[in-house]
Parts: sequence; structure tokens; C-alpha cells
Amino acid sequence: MLVQHDAPLAPLTTLRLGGPARRLVTATTDAEVVQAVREADAAGEPLLVIGGGSNLLIGDGGFAGTVLRIATTGFGLDAATLELAAGEVWADAVSRTVDEGLAGIEFLAGIPGSAGATPVQNVGAYGQEVSSSITEVVAYDRRAGGTVTLTGAECGFSYRHSRFKADPERYVVLRVRFALEDNGGLSTPVKYAETARHLGVEQGERVGLAAARDAVLRLRSGKGMVLDPADHDTWSAGSFFTNPVLTAAQYQAFLAGLDGRTAPAYPAPDGCTKTSAAWLIDQAGFGKGYGSGPATLSTKHTLALTNRGGATAGDLLALAREIRDGVRSAFGVELVNEPVLVGVAL
Ligand SMILES: Cc1cc2nc3c(=O)[nH]c(=O)nc-3n(C[C@H](O)[C@H](O)[C@H](O)COP(=O)(O)OP(=O)(O)OC[C@H]3O[C@@H](n4cnc5c(N)ncnc54)[C@H](O)[C@@H]3O)c2cc1C
Repeated sequence: MLVQHDAPLAPLTTLRLGGPARRLVTATTDAEVVQAVREADAAGEPLLVIGGGSNLLIGDGGFAGTVLRIATTGFGLDAATLELAAGEVWADAVSRTVDEGLAGIEFLAGIPGSAGATPVQNVGAYGQEVSSSITEVVAYDRRAGGTVTLTGAECGFSYRHSRFKADPERYVVLRVRFALEDNGGLSTPVKYAETARHLGVEQGERVGLAAARDAVLRLRSGKGMVLDPADHDTWSAGSFFTNPVLTAAQYQAFLAGLDGRTAPAYPAPDGCTKTSAAWLIDQAGFGKGYGSGPATLSTKHTLALTNRGGATAGDLLALAREIRDGVRSAFGVELVNEPVLVGVAL
């Protein structure tokens, strides 16, 4: 277990923002993870768990406690059952399952970060979410002081949400288990219209697994959604805002204010409607590349707030607030941040 003091956190995040950690512990086995958590909890020490730092905005003041970096490894495949250690690099694990001829997570190719963080916000893209293939999550329960195994149903998954996100101080994910599918080398049905168009098939058809993965990687690269250290459009936390889910009454009020424009609308549970945060941002006057300071919108995607090199967390937050406020005054819709904010608030 590696322990460092006054350790910079910015290089451990994809936004490359944030002050130092008072103490940074890097754990490479489950036992080390549990030991580090127990020690911090016994000492009453604030604890921040990080994986790939790709969904985090850490404030310029840093973190006055222990930051636990999960660097465990383990890729276990038994027929179509996959078990990943929390520290495994998610994008590499996806690619490996595609090479093994297994379907279920192929449309989640290229998403940065660790396997252990995927259940936290029920990672999703291009019509697939981890909730549809996760069978079990093994976690250290800080309240009970022991390791627990939660079934997929017990994880409380919904759109970019889970039991782990709802109760962030309670669980540290150690392992994630998935039931993948052997479809003779074919993907799960292509759900997303853009992917279907790109692959030249109809929605609902299946394609070769590698073709599905490669199509997603090409689409993501075009939007700056695959990490590339040389490209500032990828110095982001991915989508900064979630797509708003409006109740029936909120949706009617929203439609009434559209002045003849047609906003994207998708059915959501409980009679709600999901619309597109990217569309709202663009229509509120914040186009690709918006901003003149060291923090701007990506030149490839309006939903990604980026660090052009010299930004502070304060710069990025100021941009986020400007966009949230602009969308609120244009459409009456409140945008909610997707990344976890540490030591700061929007
Ligand atoms: C370019 C880019 C594109 C992206 N595209 C997508 C996308 O298409 N879809 C999508 O859903 N997300 C996307 N994201 C967001 C991000 O990649 C995912 O949320 C990812 O799962 C975060 O993993 P991480 O290991 O980097 O988590 P971190 O950023 O390190 O942590 C995020 C949160 O999870 C918690 N956490 C991390 N590991 C654990 C653990 N083992 N146990 C308990 N809690 C933990 C942290 O405490 C924190 O609250 C994108 C990000 C970037 C930068």
C-alpha cells in the first residue's frame, strides 16, 4: 500500500483540476482497500474513493482527508460470467470481452474510468447501461463494517443513478460481476439510431461485436469522448450535465415555451419525459467551443466542459453556473451536474 502526503490530485483526474490530498493511499488488493477504509473510518478521517478520476470535479482547495485510489486488478471470465476487480480499466475490459466473442457491454466501449465506478452512476451510452448485465456487486459496507454481495436488483439502478450514488459514504465497490451473452459473435440489438445509421443497419438488428465496438469508438472520438492527452476537448468529465427528466406538468410547461422549436423527447419511467441537455445548452446560446477563458465547452460536443490547459476548478465551475443559469432562464429547466463535486458546489 503506497501512502503519500500532500499529493496532487489534478493529475489523477481527466479534468486535471483540483488541489492536493492531505493523504493519498493507493491500494492494489481488496485487502488493502478494506484496510485503508477501516483505518480512515476508525480515525474519523474524511475519505474520498477514486478510480480513474473521470467523473470528478475536485475543488481548488483539494481534499483534507484520505483519498483512496483503487488500483486493484482482476479479469475473471468463466463461460459468459465476468468478474472484474474494481480497479480494472473499464475500456480495456470491454475490449477484451468483445475479443472473447461476448455481448452485453460492447456499446460501452471507450468510456474512461474503472470497473468499480460503473455501478455507481449506472454507466451508459448508445442504448446500453451496465445495469442490464450486472448480476452482483461485492462491496465493503462501511456502516456494517464488513463485505457484502448485492444483487443487481439490490443496487437500485436507474438513469445515471444507483444505491451507491444515493448513499455515497456507505459502500466501497471491490468487484463487479456481469452476465454476458454468447450470441455467436453478434452484438446485442443496436438500440441507438445514430449507431444504427453509422453501421448501416436498422435499429433492433445485431451486428458483429467488433463492428459494434469500433463504430462506438469512432462516434465517441468524433465527439471528444475518448481520452486523448493531446486533445483538450477530452480534458473533461464527459457529459457535465445529465439529460433532464421532466414530470408531465414540467414537460407541458417546457413545450409551451418552445416557440415552435422541436426538442428531443424520450419516454422515461413514471410518465416522465427525458429531453436532451446538449440540445438545451446549444439552443440557449452556448454552442460548441463556447467560452473565452481557460475553461470552455468542447469544440466537439456542447455537453463537455473542458480545461484548455491552465484552468482552475473555479474557472470550470463559473462556466458550469453560466450554462446552468442560461438554460434555466431560456427554458425554465434546471440542469443537474453528472460528475461528483468534491469540496465545491454548483
Ligand atoms: C471523455 C469522457 C467520456 C465519458 N463518457 C461517459 C459515457 O458515455 N457514459 C457514462 O455513463 N459516463 C461517461 N463518462 C463519465 C465516467 O467515465 C464514468 O462515470 C466512469 O464510470 C467513472 O469512473 P472513474 O473510475 O473514473 O470514477 P471516479 O471519477 O474516480 O469516481 C466517480 C465517483 O465514483 C466513486 N467511486 C469510484 N470508484 C469507486 C469504488 N470502487 N467504490 C465506490 N465508489 C467509487 C467516487 O468516489 C466518485 O464519487 C465519461 C467521462 C469522460 C472523461
